[in-house]
Amino acid sequence: MALLELRKVTKQYGADEHEDAIALHEISLSIDEGEFVAIIGASGSGKSTLLNILGCLDSPSGGQYFLDGVDTALATPNHLALIRRRLLGFIFQRYHLIPELTAIENVALPALYDGMPARERKAKASRLLQGLDVAHKHLSFPSQISGGQQQRVAVARALMNDARVIFADEPTGALDTTNGQAVLSILTDLNRAGHTVVMVTHNPDIASAATRIVEVQDGRIVRDSGKVNQPEVKAHAPISQAVQPRVFQNYLLQFFLLSLRSILSHRLRSYLTALGVFIGTAAVAISIAVSQAAQDSIAQNAGELFTNSLRVSKGKDWNDPQAAAIQSITARDLQALSSLPFIRSVTPTVDTERRIRYRQHDVQARVEGLDVQGIARSDSKVELGRDISSHDVSAAANVALIEVGTQDFLFGHTDPLGQVVLVGDVPLVIIGTVKSKTTGLQNNRIYAPYTTVQNKLLGISHFDGMTVSLDPKFDPLLAEKNIQDLLLRSHGIKDFFIINTAASWASFSQIAVIASAALGGIAAISLLVGGIGVMNIMLVSVVERTKEIGIRKAVGATAADIVLQFLIESVTICLMGTLAGLLFAAIVCAMISGLSDQLHPSLSLLSVGVSGLICFSTGVIFGWLPARLASGLSPVTALSTE
Ligand code: ADP
Ligand code: MG
Repeated sequence: MALLELRKVTKQYGADEHEDAIALHEISLSIDEGEFVAIIGASGSGKSTLLNILGCLDSPSGGQYFLDGVDTALATPNHLALIRRRLLGFIFQRYHLIPELTAIENVALPALYDGMPARERKAKASRLLQGLDVAHKHLSFPSQISGGQQQRVAVARALMNDARVIFADEPTGALDTTNGQAVLSILTDLNRAGHTVVMVTHNPDIASAATRIVEVQDGRIVRDSGKVNQPEVKAHAPISQAVQPRVFQNYLLQFFLLSLRSILSHRLRSYLTALGVFIGTAAVAISIAVSQAAQDSIAQNAGELFTNSLRVSKGKDWNDPQAAAIQSITARDLQALSSLPFIRSVTPTVDTERRIRYRQHDVQARVEGLDVQGIARSDSKVELGRDISSHDVSAAANVALIEVGTQDFLFGHTDPLGQVVLVGDVPLVIIGTVKSKTTGLQNNRIYAPYTTVQNKLLGISHFDGMTVSLDPKFDPLLAEKNIQDLLLRSHGIKDFFIINTAASWASFSQIAVIASAALGGIAAISLLVGGIGVMNIMLVSVVERTKEIGIRKAVGATAADIVLQFLIESVTICLMGTLAGLLFAAIVCAMISGLSDQLHPSLSLLSVGVSGLICFSTGVIFGWLPARLASGLSPVTALSTE
């Protein structure tokens, strides 16, 4: 039985039925194991087309091709890849080595796809290179060695998986006579060693090295010198047995290393791809961190009193003209409210206007009564000195804190601490200065214990109102109702009104949540744009690397191998982009934190997790499409691109 047998094989490029578009006309040819066949003919006569069909790089448009008795039309693309990988070796006119792999890596490639362990692969590749006199160049890249040496490397690659048939398309075409002769004698030796060799050439001198010459003209065989008696060749297992897939060793690791090589050898492209992901990830992580920090900062600035509090004031509303006369909010209410379980604390409010005098300066100011630590609990802070103490309150001490603006006005540059000011006609010792966290127009202001304001300035025993701090877990509206009921019972009439800032805070925080969701959405869109960028570059890279894909397929990579390679590449690049993006986001957060005393964003587990996950899926999704595209290319179309 013939090893290779074509039966009335035609090949037509494209759908055009025109005579000129037909490259092969019903070719029948059978080649036995152990033959050395030269296919000769003029340029354009169909030699390469014939060889590509014999080598399973291309498929016939009509007729049948049997390889060791197996009808190739019935083989799946994966089977054909396995056949190319295990049984066929290719040598091309232009060598077709992968430029970013070293000589030894190029040689070892077919075995990599076949799952041979790395050590064994290296040893065998090195042995083959040695046998072909290029061992000293095994770490060189194809661009660093001569054409003759490149062709020897290509021969070694063809032998890597012990190919039974070597196909050579114009193997000497790009070489000078000496190197051409050398390659030719290698082919002769291989044939003597039992390999079947099919060589295409347009040069009759080269062809004369073969044992059989087949001449092609316009897609037809016009002459065949015929089979000569072959020496006995050793028996091989049938092809159908040879195409069982082997179990892979460290499959993913090998492919990961392979894709690292490819990423490193296309640095600019890899950087640009990673940049898209980098921007997207950084945008997502920063926006999550900043919006969280903004919410925290709002909550902090607003203060406990605002976020979880409500205010009881006397009168029907702010404009009630009778309010001044109402005296019903007293220490009794304070105690009654304090005992409610959902109330954390109750602070009375009492204030008045007075003239403040210090030496020759005087100014009209608002005097605010405060409870213990009253400044700390407000939206202001103590700049110098100390806050109101519990002793100050219980003793109605003659002490006051002064707002920094008012301080400037009265004291200029002299230290106010320990100085005595006259508030109306009551002397108060300045124990501290107060700076508002929120800037804005402010009245002149001075703060004193509420007992001092009540007893010493106003001579009253009631309050203007109360600020009630609530347990944050308690429903603010229900709290408001309970407080209202309690006060109504004790006052008998509704001579007070309640402003529920806790309730408005709750709805405000909801708005903040919506706002940060919107910010997150925008960031997600930027990640999507980054992802599309990744896809673009991967697509371009598929086009740019078509040749490489063709070579890989010719040496036996399956579609799945190619998909995996591209996928691992894009996921690796995306991961690098993500890590860099997260690092950048962390730096930006630290910078914002350093520059602003309001915002302190930091990368949370949430932002790292979300952006990491999104990015990983981006890599997979956007790497998938180009990878599919790459894997679907036929080896011969891929190889013929320049
Ligand atoms: P040779 O190798 O003998 O020079 P080829 O097999 O490359 O010839 O080409 C045979 C014929 O098929 C030529 O007319 C060529 O133009 C045509 N041909 C080869 N490859 C393609 C292709 N991919 N698409 C269309 N026509 C092609
Ligand atoms: Mg050709």
